[in-house]
Parts: sequence; C-alpha cells; structure tokens
Amino acid sequence: MAVRTARFRFYGCLTDLLRPPDAGGDHASIPGRRYAFRGTPSVKNAIEAQGVPHPEVDLILVDGSPVGLDAPIDGGERVGVYPFARSLGRPDGALRPSPPDPPRFVCDVHLGRLARFLRMIGRDVRYATDAGDAALARVSDAENRILLTRDRELLNRSRVTHGAFVRAQDPDRRRVETVARFNLDAYVDPFTRCLNCNTLLEPVRPERVADDLPDRVRRAHDSFYRCRSCDRTFWEGSHVDRMRDEIRSVLCRASNG
Ligand SMILES: [Zn+2]
Repeated sequence: MAVRTARFRFYGCLTDLLRPPDAGGDHASIPGRRYAFRGTPSVKNAIEAQGVPHPEVDLILVDGSPVGLDAPIDGGERVGVYPFARSLGRPDGALRPSPPDPPRFVCDVHLGRLARFLRMIGRDVRYATDAGDAALARVSDAENRILLTRDRELLNRSRVTHGAFVRAQDPDRRRVETVARFNLDAYVDPFTRCLNCNTLLEPVRPERVADDLPDRVRRAHDSFYRCRSCDRTFWEGSHVDRMRDEIRSVLCRASNG
C-alpha cells in the first residue's frame, strides 16, 4: 500500500502533547508537520498517532472545513487541530458539546491527591483506587464528567467525550494546572464535601454529635458538619486553617500563570 502524507498543524496547548516527528518527518513550526500513513485512517486515529488524545481537541478543520472524528484522510490534506478555548465560546463545527458547568470530574487512580484537592474546593469528583480504564471511561460518559488522567490510551477511547491529559508530573503543580485550565477559581466552595467519599456535608446540631467528640473539641467549637456516607463529623479546627492556606496558595499561583 502506498505511503501518503497530510500536513497537520496543532494549536495552543495541544503542542505540549505532540510526539517528535518520525524520521523523515519535519518540524512542527514550519508550517505544520507532515504525517505519513497508509490506507485511509480516520482523522481521530491520525491525530492520536501524533500524541494528542481526541478529548483534548475541540475543532478539526480539513482544508478549512470542520469535520468529525471519523472523517477519513487519504493524502494531501491540510489539517488544523484546535483545543477547547473557554473564552471563545463554541466554534461552528465543534466536536463535542460544552463541558459540564460547573465542572465535575472523574480522576484516574494515580491522581488521588488531585482528587482530594478538588473535593476540598467543593468540586464533585469521582475517585476510586481500584477503578479500571473501562470503568473510568464509562463513568465519564454516563455521568458527563471530565476524565483527568495521564494515560493517553485511556483518553483515546471513543467513549470518552470530556477529558484532559494532566501535563504536570509534580502533584502540587497538577493542582495549579487543573485550577487554571478549568477556571476553577470561579467555582470554589470550600469544605462543603467529604474529602474521603465526595458526599456533600450537612450541618449538624452540636448536641447531636456531642457524645462522639473529645471534650476539647466540644468546648472550642460550635459548628459541626456530618458526612452521611462515612458517618464522620467535621469541625473548623486548625486543619481547616491549613487547608485554607493551601487553597489560597494554589489559586494565587493559578491566576499568575
Ligand atoms: Zn464521607
């Protein structure tokens, strides 16, 4: 089967994800990169073969016209590949509906600290240490959640509509990256959700939980919250001050780029 080529140009944050061009290929900067293939792959497969999972892409233009992920390429095309740009609104020909607003997530098993932080600021996050790839894709699809992962193969699954490849390797920087990417500073509602299980906390009268609390806590506090699922009681102690500092630090760095 003959080798054919098409020229791809990736925009914005998608360039972070590109694999180096194959031997004989050329560089991304001038003007776009040549992609060699056999047969007539879908544009989805051609984009993902270059390192960019389809949920990262919001719009594909082939020779200037928007196409769907299944559109075939058969050589000679010029393909523009664009990320989601919140500030620009929905483009004509967008590949997917708007992401959930307010944003809600499902986190891959290696993103436990990120999941905990997102719950800390009040976001609805599904997370389980034993979730397999099929279950993560299913939850993302069925519950309209943004799938966060560092696994490209997982994001490449057709079932995933909303998803993001988390760039940062450092857990602290992942929080900053995620807050900045999804503008989460506009959705902060801290200490409303159980960090352990994601259930919304409910205020509870002190006398209802008094017997479960150490004397020093009972004397020092008068606002208590309960997680129905875990059956645990929370109050605004020194750990909440520390979490507030942590949130402030992440939001500040996210807004400063
Ligand atoms: Zn809980």
